[in-house]
Amino acid sequence: MKQPNKPPQVHIETFGCQMNEYDSELVKSLLRKSGFEFTEDRERADVMLMNTCAIRENAHNKVYGHLAELKAVKEQRPLVVGVLGCMAQNLKEELTDKQPLVDILVGPDGYRQLPGLLTKALNAEEQGLSRRGLAVDLSEYETYDDVLPERDEGINAWIAIMRGCDNFCSFCVVPYTRGRERSRDPEGVLREVEASVESGHTQITLLGQNVNSYRHGDWDFARLILAVAEVPGVQRVRFTSPHPKDFPGALLDAVAGHPNICKHIHLPLQSGNDRILELMNRTYSRKEYLDLAAEIRRRHPAIALTTDIICGFCSETEEEFLDTYRVVEEVNYHAAYIFKYSERKNTIAARKFPDDIPEEVKGERVSRLVDLQRPITARINRELIGHTLPVMVENNSKRSPDQWMGRTDTNITVIWSKSDIPATVGDIHPITVLDATAAVLMGRRDATSVNA
Ligand code: SF4
Repeated sequence: MKQPNKPPQVHIETFGCQMNEYDSELVKSLLRKSGFEFTEDRERADVMLMNTCAIRENAHNKVYGHLAELKAVKEQRPLVVGVLGCMAQNLKEELTDKQPLVDILVGPDGYRQLPGLLTKALNAEEQGLSRRGLAVDLSEYETYDDVLPERDEGINAWIAIMRGCDNFCSFCVVPYTRGRERSRDPEGVLREVEASVESGHTQITLLGQNVNSYRHGDWDFARLILAVAEVPGVQRVRFTSPHPKDFPGALLDAVAGHPNICKHIHLPLQSGNDRILELMNRTYSRKEYLDLAAEIRRRHPAIALTTDIICGFCSETEEEFLDTYRVVEEVNYHAAYIFKYSERKNTIAARKFPDDIPEEVKGERVSRLVDLQRPITARINRELIGHTLPVMVENNSKRSPDQWMGRTDTNITVIWSKSDIPATVGDIHPITVLDATAAVLMGRRDATSVNA
């Protein structure tokens, strides 16, 4: 199959959330240590890996689309195809029975077995063995604490501080695909933060499916995030995704008070109606959520809140949807990520509640919330015109190589001209906002703003 004496070439595609991106970095590190190399060029690949997501219908469909494309490739040349991550875990029967072109299935706790399974598959033909390999057992202990992820260039390091989730929100597949909640040793996390700074990744985002329930011995999330913010060289610390049930005062104080911790909290609402929240098993009421949002703003009025919302969850009535609508009117989110409910296999909701809201009603509710939120975001952004904000330089703007793209610590994207004053990726500069849309701020770094 592969050319003798040439390291096997691996192409890896990642779907879904930031946790999957992080897992792909772990996979690269594990494979590199075992002699594999990576290629962006699919034509040159001996191995095609897809690191998959089972949360959203969209990511799920994309993976099936890619598999259909690979069928034709595999008919023309030898190729090992592997499906990793949440879909591998959740759909193992479906993928092994109905997709004979999938050789390797590895769930989120099985990445250490991947080098061995790939080596076996690559040599299977000459040894007369089956290429099939499976590692889909969930672990109560695996945190990959000793594996340093292989990061791309840039300033961003996403660092998983825990794996799995014990919350069992009824719509969510994560507790089944990623298993029970396990927190990493804080020493391992801090070592990874130091290594990230060393390689120039000075904006750290702490990741977890339920990041603020982190607990290891007497370390809780407030203690950990403060320790990370204090690591020399760290410029900014972000975190995602928290659950509204785990926001003690110490954590709110840490976010409000430490200059390196970004003034942005993603606070998933999902629904603003108590009956639906209970069906979703979210464990907070509408009032508790609104009280928390008010408390966050009381401690630091400038903290930006963003959220996730599901429209058309099982049996959601128009009146119950309007409760969500009114929360969005009340909270003044900087941004909201709004989705139609889509039933995921093996979840509590799939087993207990019929998915009975017509697709067009779900879509219409999504549109109404998007139409409500967009002008709120635009207004919040426009209120910043004339203000000078500290913006971290992250990359070239996608619009033009002559512009920089950066983010405020409230997570708003800012674009400005490179010709203003020289800058380097990773710098934090004062940028004066000249114009704003719902998507972006346009700014200028000039003598006025430097001294502002
Ligand atoms: S908190 Fe709920 S939505 Fe988030 S990963 Fe856990 S079960 Fe899923």
